Amino acid sequence: MSHYPSSGQFTCYCQKMQSYGISCGHQIIVLLSLNMDELTTSLLLYRWSTTTKDRYKGLNIATSKFWDLHFRELCNLGTQSAEDFNYVKEKVSEHVQYLKNKNLAMDTHIPK
Ligand SMILES: [Zn+2]
Repeated sequence: MSHYPSSGQFTCYCQKMQSYGISCGHQIIVLLSLNMDELTTSLLLYRWSTTTKDRYKGLNIATSKFWDLHFRELCNLGTQSAEDFNYVKEKVSEHVQYLKNKNLAMDTHIPK
């Protein structure tokens, strides 16, 4: 478990934060032993902050039905041939990587 006061960073060998996005008990014990009463940005991902709900305004049941329908269609069409499968696999991987990078950037830059 390491704490870098100048940057407010906490890291831990157990990698729970990196694996699950949740602070581990080791980090919390150190936080408490330092009499810190607030979580630093390294211990709270943006996705868990109270401002996150603003990101999801407008999502409703119709939106989830849209995704459900299109993912089923994508799976059906994308498994018709090896060529189609590889095409869909490549495109989906690109989009997943784009969104991962975008969310990672948001998690490391919590807006004030
Ligand atoms: Zn830990």
